[in-house]
Amino acid sequence: MSNIRIELTANPKQKPQGPLHFGRYFTDHMFLMNYDKGEGWHDARIVPYGPFPLDPAAMCLHYGQEVFEGMKAYLTPDGTIQLFRPDENFKRLNCSNERICIPQVDEELCLEGLKKLIEIDKDWMPTEKETSLYIRPFIIATDAHLGVSPGEHYLFAVIVSPVAAYYETGLDPVKIYVEKSYTRAVKGGTGMAKTGGNYAASLIAQVEAYEEGFSQALWLDGVEKKYVEEVGTMNVFFVVDDEVITPALNGSILSGITRKSSIDILKSWGVKVTERRIAIDEIVEFHKQGRLKEMFGTGTAAVISPVGMLRYDGHDMPIGDGTTGALTQKLYDALTGIQWGTAEDTFGWTVPCCKL
Ligand SMILES: *Cc1c(COP(=O)(O)O)cnc(C)c1O
Repeated sequence: MSNIRIELTANPKQKPQGPLHFGRYFTDHMFLMNYDKGEGWHDARIVPYGPFPLDPAAMCLHYGQEVFEGMKAYLTPDGTIQLFRPDENFKRLNCSNERICIPQVDEELCLEGLKKLIEIDKDWMPTEKETSLYIRPFIIATDAHLGVSPGEHYLFAVIVSPVAAYYETGLDPVKIYVEKSYTRAVKGGTGMAKTGGNYAASLIAQVEAYEEGFSQALWLDGVEKKYVEEVGTMNVFFVVDDEVITPALNGSILSGITRKSSIDILKSWGVKVTERRIAIDEIVEFHKQGRLKEMFGTGTAAVISPVGMLRYDGHDMPIGDGTTGALTQKLYDALTGIQWGTAEDTFGWTVPCCKL
């Protein structure tokens, strides 16, 4: 057992009464750890949730040296709170760390601290169908220094937020807009790292897509604007005839854990899944030929998000009959079944945390 200091709050907050809008409410505690050059990561602790002091010159505020993760804790029918592949999240955090020049964290210690935090704040677990605790680990450079160089001091934090079911009335297909002018990431850049800067670069496209009545932008490769990469906060899949196609990880695409799990589940059903480079023109062609049966996004927040319409170059392409496709629905049911513990976890992906 490692040494995680615990300081419980003397003033527990009131739980939210109304709808649990995404990422607005936070539990009573947070998990923190500091890094100082020469000393490494130290002082792992669970303390009352609240603001932390930050020097106005803190490097993260000026040059964006930060990384983050996103995962969930789920309540199963027998009252166990469980995590879904948390080891993958901390492994990915270290991949992001490497790219952004942040020192590696001890993945075991992160998981231990997270489990302890969930246990301490377990009375924040919402109990309605398909609700969860959204977990946000992140690291920021805290050096008070305006020089451009990697920091020598960092803060690791995990905060937790109770969230409602993503779809209140069953899967609801979204409209996606193919972005032709802006670029989110390029090969050699930071697209495969989960870092705030990628989101800063994507906001303008998100805003413009929204103004046009679309929920998110689909990114094309940054060089030729020809090949499909991913959707705002999700990886993307196409069902063409009986084959499922998704863009291959190429250095500018984020390696989603929901993406990876979806591929494994589909393959276990004998579905042909191909990871390859896909030109947007091919998708248009498949659509014309009536072969583009379904399209969906994958990500922790929505799990599986059916796409009902795709706009490219002024042309609207309705996908299938605009409702959720059969394979999309089946995949959603399979993944959420494992996550919420209503189906057997034959892959060994879930990790129990504590009992409610
Ligand atoms: C987090 C994220 C995803 C989805 O990853 P999951 O591990 O499935 O949640 C996809 N694209 C981007 C850009 C992301 O930041």
